[in-house]
Amino acid sequence: MNARILILAGDGVGPEVTQATKRVLEHVAQKFSHSFTFSEGLIGGCAIDATGSALPEATVKAAETADAVLLGAVGGPKWDDPKAKTRPEDGLLAIRKALKLYANLRPVKVYPELAYASPLKPEIIAGVDFLVVRELTGGLYFGQPKERRTRADGGTTAVDTLEYHDYEVQRILKLAFELAASRRNIVASVDKANVLETSRLWREYATALAKDYPATTLQHVLVDTAAMRLVMSPSHFDVLVTENTFGDILTDEAAVLVGSMGLLPSASIGEVKNSKGLPLGLYEPIHGSAPDIAGKGIANPVGTILSAAMLLRHSLGLVSEADAVENAVEAALKEGARTADLTKADALSTAQMTDKILSHL
Ligand code: NAD
Repeated sequence: MNARILILAGDGVGPEVTQATKRVLEHVAQKFSHSFTFSEGLIGGCAIDATGSALPEATVKAAETADAVLLGAVGGPKWDDPKAKTRPEDGLLAIRKALKLYANLRPVKVYPELAYASPLKPEIIAGVDFLVVRELTGGLYFGQPKERRTRADGGTTAVDTLEYHDYEVQRILKLAFELAASRRNIVASVDKANVLETSRLWREYATALAKDYPATTLQHVLVDTAAMRLVMSPSHFDVLVTENTFGDILTDEAAVLVGSMGLLPSASIGEVKNSKGLPLGLYEPIHGSAPDIAGKGIANPVGTILSAAMLLRHSLGLVSEADAVENAVEAALKEGARTADLTKADALSTAQMTDKILSHL
């Protein structure tokens, strides 16, 4: 297969982890006889420095013509001035909008040999392997009006609007049901239907859609209960699907279960199709630019490498290749390979960790 992959390294450790991941993708191409063409673009702080924009037009054009985009991270103290006109994170929001990415997928898997790194007890964390599907473009963060009003008594009222359209709810729920089919086939639809009208609409559509997926078990879980279950019995979850704000909070809660920010991947996909007829997705580790360790060559590349595995699966349809990358990561961890975020002794550099993973590919 020929595929075009755009790499947006970004800031801080972004260039280090994307460079490591490019080596893995090159190895996959060679081993499975594919031809991947890589191009690079600017996003975030480095893009602001070079062009004044966190997402230059050239990057948008390159992304639109790519089959998939691999992103490192954006941001850092250099661009933290609250008075700045443009911030690195604006680039992230803008690329999500430009590529119409409505779904964020975050798999959370705990490797038995890393259970010690989790803040939870080993017996609670054992067997955790779930996927959070978060709606990304609707709800409270985008609903209008969003404003401050001065009341007749001179006081101030702030308003945000929580609005969901039927098509937004239906497409994200459908995606969750489809993804569950290749897993344990249990969908937990997370809402607040006891209070919110948008959640009642959500629950109605989830129930209706479940009829099209008779092999899938649908559970309705209130968001407060979901937050509790994530720390009490996280291994019971398979696929959680939820709206934007709930997803924002629950994905961060879920991320800490594994013990290091450097381990987890993510994918954002939408309705735009690539040259393979598959979703043109944006793939990135969940961590930020980690300015405290940037430039030292010690960042954990696993989150980005696993993001590349998601890229292979979701945007290129290369399932065996994706499995091979995930198995290689697992084998390297089993063998004891650890970067500094996971061990105090004998820590591997980013390049050495990547070498270990490549040796199992
Ligand atoms: P962070 O994720 O960058 O770092 C949090 C902690 O995790 C740090 O101690 C860091 O060293 C560690 N860490 C992160 N990635 C690691 C890796 N690959 N290997 C080893 N350790 C790793 O979060 P932060 O410090 O809150 O934010 C730093 C900057 O990143 C900020 O400017 C923030 O706005 C930005 N940010 C960007 C994204 C993104 O690009 N998607 C996400 C979150 C934060």
